[in-house]
Amino acid sequence: MAVSGYNAEVENFRDKEYPMLQGVTYLDHGGTTLYATSLMEQFTRDMTSNLFGNPHADSPSSQRSTTRVDNVRVRILKYFHADPEHFDVVFVANATAAIKLVMEAFRDHGEDRTSRIDTRGFWYGYHRDSHTSLVGVREVARAGHVCFSSDEQVDEWLSSPSLGGDDYASRSPSTPGLFAYPAQSNLDGRRLPLDWCRRLRQSESARHRNTYSLLDAAALVSTAPLDLSKSAVAPDFTAMSFYKIFGFPDLGALIVRKESAHVLLKRKYFGGGTVDMVISSREAWHARKSDSVHDQLEDGTLPIHSIIALQAAFDVHERLYGTPERVSRHTAFLARELYRGLSSLHHSDGEKVCEIYTDPSGLSQDATSQGPVIALNVRNCRGGWVGNSEVEKLAAVRNIHLRTGRICNAGGIAHSLGLSSSDMRRNFLAGQRCGDDNDIISGRPTGVIRLSLGSMSTHKDVSTVVEFFRDFYAERVPTVPEAPTVRVNEAESVMEVESLTIYPIKSCGGWKIPHGTPWEIKEEGLAWDREWCLVHKGTGKALSQKQYPRMAHLCPSIDLKQNLLRVRMRSASMDQPGRPPDLLVPLSEVLRPNTFEDQADHLKCQQTRVCGDAIIAQAYTDPEIGDFFTRLLNVPCTLARFPAGGCGPNTRHSKYPNQRRNKASESPILLSNESPILTISRPSLDCLNEQIRANGGKAAQPEVFRANIVLAASGDKTLAEGRAKAYEEDQWNYMRIGREHFQVRHYFSNRLTAEG
Ligand SMILES: *Cc1c(COP(=O)(O)O)cnc(C)c1O
Repeated sequence: MAVSGYNAEVENFRDKEYPMLQGVTYLDHGGTTLYATSLMEQFTRDMTSNLFGNPHADSPSSQRSTTRVDNVRVRILKYFHADPEHFDVVFVANATAAIKLVMEAFRDHGEDRTSRIDTRGFWYGYHRDSHTSLVGVREVARAGHVCFSSDEQVDEWLSSPSLGGDDYASRSPSTPGLFAYPAQSNLDGRRLPLDWCRRLRQSESARHRNTYSLLDAAALVSTAPLDLSKSAVAPDFTAMSFYKIFGFPDLGALIVRKESAHVLLKRKYFGGGTVDMVISSREAWHARKSDSVHDQLEDGTLPIHSIIALQAAFDVHERLYGTPERVSRHTAFLARELYRGLSSLHHSDGEKVCEIYTDPSGLSQDATSQGPVIALNVRNCRGGWVGNSEVEKLAAVRNIHLRTGRICNAGGIAHSLGLSSSDMRRNFLAGQRCGDDNDIISGRPTGVIRLSLGSMSTHKDVSTVVEFFRDFYAERVPTVPEAPTVRVNEAESVMEVESLTIYPIKSCGGWKIPHGTPWEIKEEGLAWDREWCLVHKGTGKALSQKQYPRMAHLCPSIDLKQNLLRVRMRSASMDQPGRPPDLLVPLSEVLRPNTFEDQADHLKCQQTRVCGDAIIAQAYTDPEIGDFFTRLLNVPCTLARFPAGGCGPNTRHSKYPNQRRNKASESPILLSNESPILTISRPSLDCLNEQIRANGGKAAQPEVFRANIVLAASGDKTLAEGRAKAYEEDQWNYMRIGREHFQVRHYFSNRLTAEG
């Protein structure tokens, strides 16, 4: 069998070292990896048994801090096989801060007021696969910038001997250049050639003169070694974040090749600790420190406690995993397994379930060209895309943590998904924003699903996530071939409404409307459904259950007789003495739009955001209401109400932002992520649950899908002919309940196209 890494060892210590992983499948190590119990314990012991002072003094406690910081610098360099004679470590907050520090220094070039020639800042070249934090540097590159859209373009640029009329470097010889790229793409895990730094340094071409390399190693070092032992060919500047290697501390570093440090020292700003003498009077003069690179670049007091924690992080990581080479072999092995599992999933017609963007040829080799990251999208059995937010929600039901979206990597996304810049601009105009739920526009995905592995990942994690995609997305029942013409329910099926549920407060528990109660249907859905939301007092944003799972225990109900919204906390024992009394809010308090001044004191109009969309909601300022939710959820928040419909695009249908936006722009291309009335069928749910149980999972309840209407097969024997079967609703175009007709749009279905 192939080298399987240290799986058995991790299985042995994982419960103890990573208790937070029990029952969880965590596949977002590209976001951050996790800290070990031993690391936290060693750090706490160290902190409580030693006195650490501010390093800028001579007291014993200050000296102790200084010594520790010096030692940790050496430890970092050793980890990357970097000789302290040739390299220095500058502590920063994170990889982005490291990149900004380099940017700041380059930006200040040519700003010398004593010089009369304008050497115009610097020139910047960056690779398409760059993280947003690298891309942003271009905005201050006054001598021009270039995005290399392929490795071949970089190769060509590096090997071309002349300046000959290109647009790469038409800059004056004294203007510095900066070439930046990620050592590993944070999107799909592809590892880029480290050799580019050597070629740049050794190039004799005029276009490479005075040009430096900035390597963004943040994603790479999370699961791979980085060898800086040959200083002559190493990157000039290397940026990284330590939480991506160890999970803790939240700290970053810029590793600087001393021979190139002089370019950084052009920076204008000086902060506390970086100067030997400052005169602050009319005569503005200062003398910079000259002893070490880091002394001149670290502004203010160092994050000493984080640096001290870093020592524990190195110790524990080494004890648990040995070398980064071992981590690399282990995670590469798991990534191959993951790829094999996902690529083996097929629909019954033989089509693949997962469209995988990660290049398998990289996975099959040693880990030099590919990290343990799989980026993909999911297709349903008809070849249509499944929305990423749906995948994310269903994954959360199984406690699988993954990342979806554009992953801070615009160039990589465009390349993987084949989106042109005009596609991306159009998506932006259609309302797409970072972190929203608009995951399919014009029938194409706008982001990916990223599964990233880390040092403590195991076989079990891999098999759990493969199982998840199989259970929810691989078609097993043979499919009925699609009829050539659109069917308008030609064979009617008959079902019964099993229950009607509304969710008066967005993201809180549902309330089943008692049987036999007539209920009003409005244009924006069932009456009182998602009429309220909870908003964060600081940010004004609507709270979601994803962030505050306790919201599920808040049970609102509507009492039309007493004209009240009643909110009850569901607790383990209902009459527990500590259970707070129910909150009662009158239903009749509705603000008239644009007359805010006249309103009672306890309601206030406030701009808030739902699903990334700005809407107007009216927050209740009554402290009793705010305190009720704040205490129960442990976050400063209050209740807010959506104003009654009919007062403009900002409020009407504001509960369904995509639908509203769709109407406003008259654009038929958007998939509505929220349906006004969400309907689920019992036979389909039962079928899904059978599959889940067959795989040892826990059955899902209709509430998980936040359904309003649950339909059940008709109990009427005489209608046996028309009795509904699982997934039959996929064929429906409309449904009729009583005398009302409803148009059917398909949302939570693994069988319909996204445009459905
Ligand atoms: C995570 C990451 C960053 C940003 O790191 P921060 O800690 O957020 O500054 C930059 N580049 C790559 C490749 C990354 O993976």
